[in-house]
Amino acid sequence: MEIKELGEFAFIDRLTKDFKSTVNQGIGDDAAVIDRGDKFELISSDILMEGIHFDLIYTPLRHLGYKSVVVAISDIIAMNGTAKYITISLGISGKFSVEMIEELYDGVRIACGEYGVELIGGDTTSSLTGLAISLTTIGEVAKDKIVYRSGAKESDLVCVTGDLGAALLGVRLLEREKYVLEGNNVEKPKFEGYEYPLGRALKPRCRKDIIKKLDAAGIVPTAMIDISDGLASEILHITKASQCGTDIYLDRIPISPISEKLGEELNSDHLISALNGGDDYELLFTIPVTMFDKISAISDVTVIGHITNISSGAVLLTPDGSELAIEAPGWTTQK
Ligand code: ADP
Ligand code: MG
Repeated sequence: MEIKELGEFAFIDRLTKDFKSTVNQGIGDDAAVIDRGDKFELISSDILMEGIHFDLIYTPLRHLGYKSVVVAISDIIAMNGTAKYITISLGISGKFSVEMIEELYDGVRIACGEYGVELIGGDTTSSLTGLAISLTTIGEVAKDKIVYRSGAKESDLVCVTGDLGAALLGVRLLEREKYVLEGNNVEKPKFEGYEYPLGRALKPRCRKDIIKKLDAAGIVPTAMIDISDGLASEILHITKASQCGTDIYLDRIPISPISEKLGEELNSDHLISALNGGDDYELLFTIPVTMFDKISAISDVTVIGHITNISSGAVLLTPDGSELAIEAPGWTTQK
């Protein structure tokens, strides 16, 4: 059977169904959760493959190192936790010099410094083609502050941080530059004015700042996930894990005006980028409706909808009154 026949999540379910778990949360959330007495320990893994997750034609190695750490930490933040330690394992092909991998690690060091994470180990080996970067992140969270994907309740508000879709549009712009560099006779893209989406593509941030603000405001979300695969896929993870439905208002999805402009120029719909794009590393979370005033006082958070009964399904409401079922293409081997 081809893996794409199953899709990512059915594939992982099939591989892991016969494993017993004794931890508080094993497979199925952004991080595994282990009871350590006074606290929960959080562990998550990520892998970034050359040609799949990054293209070194337009990705500086320093940025790639930085981004790898951000990607890894983001899953710990999605549990409302603090990342503490990281391990990094590399598969390196013959085309890489010592200086190149040092550059990668310059970026790793900057991100570790910014987010207060310590590099404590890893593994290094050769690869037949390209670069593979595998990361494991270890973090912690107070027991009464942990947030799973599964806690959303009917009538909760659905909130998202920052804006969505810019990272994918930035990648599209870089892809066009690459297409020109490859000698194709198309108009050279203009980068001026598009620093924001380019920055979102090459140097993403994760929202440790929001976790701190929520804590200061006394808000513990009922469910949370980080947006690494587009809003549609992530909201479906929450509704599936929480056994609920949702109404999301299309016109409330936060999209930067510069993303809209770039989408127009690239003939690439900014809403599709927000819904199905990836790599934004914003947070999607739900809170009780009684927290509305508190959440409104926090900048950079937008309420985009609410949680409904499971029988209503996951629905996108457009300004003209139509209702669309939320679907996510998900991962396939073709990605
Ligand atoms: P995220 O997008 O947040 O990094 P994933 O969608 O990659 O999470 O993974 C979903 C869940 O499946 C996680 O709990 C993860 O630990 C688990 N998982 C993914 N791949 C494997 C695998 N090969 N073996 C066991 N568990 C896996
Ligand atoms: Mg995640």
